[in-house]
Amino acid sequence: AKIIVLEEKCVGCGKCINVCPFNAITLENNKAVIGDACVMCGACERNCPFGAIKIERIQGYEQDISLYKGVWVFAEQRGGETAGVAFELLGAARRLADRLGESVAAVLIGDGVSERARELIAYGADFVYVVEGKEYENFSDELYANACVKLAEEHRPSIFLLGATAYGRSLAPRISSSLETGLTADCTVLDIDEESGMFVQTRPAFGGNIMASIVCPARRPQMATVRPRVMKKPEPDFGRSGSTVMFLPVMAGTPKARLLERIQEEGFGTSLSDAEVIVAAGRGICDSKNLELVEELARLLNGAVGASRPIVDAGWIDHSHQVGQTGRTVAPKLYIAAGISGAVQHVAGMSSSDFIVAINKDKDAPIFKIANIGIVGDSAEIIKELIAQLKSKQA
Ligand code: FAD
Ligand code: SF4
Ligand code: SF4
Repeated sequence: AKIIVLEEKCVGCGKCINVCPFNAITLENNKAVIGDACVMCGACERNCPFGAIKIERIQGYEQDISLYKGVWVFAEQRGGETAGVAFELLGAARRLADRLGESVAAVLIGDGVSERARELIAYGADFVYVVEGKEYENFSDELYANACVKLAEEHRPSIFLLGATAYGRSLAPRISSSLETGLTADCTVLDIDEESGMFVQTRPAFGGNIMASIVCPARRPQMATVRPRVMKKPEPDFGRSGSTVMFLPVMAGTPKARLLERIQEEGFGTSLSDAEVIVAAGRGICDSKNLELVEELARLLNGAVGASRPIVDAGWIDHSHQVGQTGRTVAPKLYIAAGISGAVQHVAGMSSSDFIVAINKDKDAPIFKIANIGIVGDSAEIIKELIAQLKSKQA
């Protein structure tokens, strides 16, 4: 699409400058000039009293976006258990829908999952679309995406949110490409633009140096993924009412991928996403052997082991343990950072932790700025001491 100012119509009144949410318009020689910050949201085109701004859209690509209503959430579940991120997204969806005066729907797919609809309603859904059957027992990106696409084609949501989990990351691009719409991955803030009513999806960009606010002006649904624990889980209200709608999608052909076997990931205990305590190791633990101490401390605290990127890159620990911008986002009750400097890309993944203990031999390490307790010293020695203290207390 291309945006143009019809100079013969523009009288230089400046109204478009005030309505542009992206400060993309200036006046030059009493005529509006549109700069690079323009995202084609269309607010100026709609608001110019003189019809002096025109967005030339690609033929056949425009949708009647007024027909799309409602905020949807993919209610991810595994083995019949709803993933925490689904509840977190329902909280965000409820806020967005209330701003728009629209409803919230959850999409629940699996085998024998319909009894889970009740809790989705308690967390904010007005409708739960249930797709059930033996073929949906295990996650299949083809089958699940087909169901979401068929549902969206029939019910036309305006916004569709998915968790940035392994499932959501695989599903969201399939859905968005089938529906020929945009998708913003790993959003950290979700909002509605007051002026245009558009869904503003904010995420870090350029290595975390700027926050980019992204909109999808011409296509629906507006799609976004959000990592687990980025949004706060709302309080459930089991007195809320809502409806369950069963849906039977048709799939052309059979899925190309088949689940042969499930293999439990080997590693250092509890998964990061579920842990209330995380003991995370950085380059300052100095030796891969010291990871055993980190693991022992995590076990004693009933927690999980996290890691900074360099020790993942060095092959000391699997990437699934990495915390940060290119790893997991976590928000445990207690985060112990051992030998981690506190680079912005690491902090982006753990700064929401309730209580942070940092161990570093450098008293000026940036991690101490966000730590509730700072311990200056050798990480291995201090972890050994903590282990000894905990063991003596448990004895
Ligand atoms: P360092 O920065 O090398 O810090 C080691 C710390 O250990 C120092 O503070 C030092 O004082 C201390 N130390 C040394 N010896 C001892 C000792 N004996 N006892 C106690 N302390 C000691 N990083 C992530 O972690 N997660 C990400 O997801 C991530 N994503 C990234 C994405 C991009 C696009 C980029 C550019 C970078 C990313 N990084 C990420 C890397 C990030 O910039 C940092 O390089 C990294 O977090 C540093 O890890 P560290 O703190 O373990 O190592
Ligand atoms: Fe020109 Fe229309 Fe903008 Fe007024 S609102 S400055 S007439 S483009
Ligand atoms: Fe600003 Fe939207 Fe107009 Fe672009 S289309 S200049 S972003 S109001």
